[in-house]
Amino acid sequence: MIILLILLSFFFMEFVAWSNHKYVMHGFLWSLHKDHHMTDIAGKAVLQKNDFFFLIYAIPAIILIITGLSYNNSYLLAIGGGITLYGFTYFIIHDVVFHQRLQIFKNPANRYIKAIIRAHGAHHKPKNSSDFKNFGLLIFPRRFFN
Ligand SMILES: [Zn+2]
Ligand SMILES: [Zn+2]
Repeated sequence: MIILLILLSFFFMEFVAWSNHKYVMHGFLWSLHKDHHMTDIAGKAVLQKNDFFFLIYAIPAIILIITGLSYNNSYLLAIGGGITLYGFTYFIIHDVVFHQRLQIFKNPANRYIKAIIRAHGAHHKPKNSSDFKNFGLLIFPRRFFN
């Protein structure tokens, strides 16, 4: 049950990230996401306004974990853990591997990671209008595997 809750909240976060990226970051909070698209940020460890979104996701996760710990509620702890795990995965794949903010893991060999890189690359440097629609990180159209 606990493992299932962690996995469910992890994958639910991909949906949250996708919808937030599509409707909020490319919508009314574009002012905070803009610098992530505008500047040539590859390989630079500078802070972006866009990093503010990490805080937005961290707050509910921290509240869930603290509440879970204080009331001995493993369900809340599992949900908070799933969100945190997603945030960590997102940071590693999106910020470290793709945008090279820490200048490590430059040539991932894994086929899935390579496909993620192509898919997110299509969002940053779209070749057509369907490329730009690619707002998710871990889930994307199958064509990026080729
Ligand atoms: Zn974007
Ligand atoms: Zn990006």
